[in-house]
Amino acid sequence: MAKLSAYFSKRYANLEPYVPGEQPQDKQYIKLNTNESPYEPAASVLDAVKKEAHLLNLYSDPECTLLRNKMADVYGLKPGQILMTNGSDEALNFAFMAFSDEDTPLVFPDITYGFYPVFAQLNKIPYYEIPLAEDFSIDITDYMNCGKTIVIANPNAPTGLVLSLAGIEKLVQNNQDAAVIIDEAYVDFGNDSARSLINIYDNLLVIGTFSKSKSLAGARLGFAFGNESLIAALNTIKYSTNPYNVNRLTMVAGLAALESLDYYDTACQNIIKSRDWTSAQLRNLGFEVLPSCANFVFAKSKNISGEALYNALKQRGILVRHFNNKRITDFNRITIGTQEQMELCISAIKEIMKGA
Ligand SMILES: *Cc1c(COP(=O)(O)O)cnc(C)c1O
Repeated sequence: MAKLSAYFSKRYANLEPYVPGEQPQDKQYIKLNTNESPYEPAASVLDAVKKEAHLLNLYSDPECTLLRNKMADVYGLKPGQILMTNGSDEALNFAFMAFSDEDTPLVFPDITYGFYPVFAQLNKIPYYEIPLAEDFSIDITDYMNCGKTIVIANPNAPTGLVLSLAGIEKLVQNNQDAAVIIDEAYVDFGNDSARSLINIYDNLLVIGTFSKSKSLAGARLGFAFGNESLIAALNTIKYSTNPYNVNRLTMVAGLAALESLDYYDTACQNIIKSRDWTSAQLRNLGFEVLPSCANFVFAKSKNISGEALYNALKQRGILVRHFNNKRITDFNRITIGTQEQMELCISAIKEIMKGA
């Protein structure tokens, strides 16, 4: 990267930006590194985008009316309890801006989605990281009445582990002086959503995305569910940042996706089956594999370092995600692709382990 301009504001001098998983353009890899869906969007989504394209001269509906109404139907909420965003990353950023500051700083686990500390730094919000337990689980007693804005990814990333709905409810119940933000990017791969609680607790914000289970990572569509006054607060931030945050093509793509839920259910079921197959295969090869409720597995072997395995797979045209973080440096996060891709991945790992 080029040297930062001398004109760059000192306000951001120490900002360490998020490092996305690599998207190399040099050759075709089997991409198991950024938790995308291996399946195309539903045919109805492709049609809807084609039909809408001629209207790109016009701004999109800033209120996302049709899409929010459909979301409300599908998820059993009121349209006023929903905000649509440009990926769920934007919902997270808006939520941090709206619900935390020096007086109510952020708190999240030491091992979780890497964007949380970045958005905190960007917005000058102090944050605390609470270490996960030895087995990488979250101990909710660490978060009781903590006087901070809690952010929990559930399932957590990159571990894939879940907190029960009862656990989430305790967190929300015992922190009513602050917002509790539950990031459910992976909820459709076998976990209960906390959205059923938002009519009971007015401090609960649930964030979701179309990127993973709805095959729309490239369209950028996310959302937040919360009671109407939380959503009104988020709208204040949105209308002060980017009123047309969801573009026309993405809006109709999202709407069509919600009309093809059977297609996505089948895709999720396939991914869950391949995830369980992949976990079993890795365990047979002596790997420790955390029990995942997401579309990825997090695994390590005593016989090869995380980085060596990452490099050896990359050489064979398979990308996985390795994190340069001491506590998890022996692990790799492997996105679940199609069953065929997972069979290729496991064969490659077998070959590599023979040489290791
Ligand atoms: C992928 C991911 C997101 C962001 O997804 P968007 O593509 O911005 O919707 C948010 N949180 C977690 C935990 C994720 O893994």
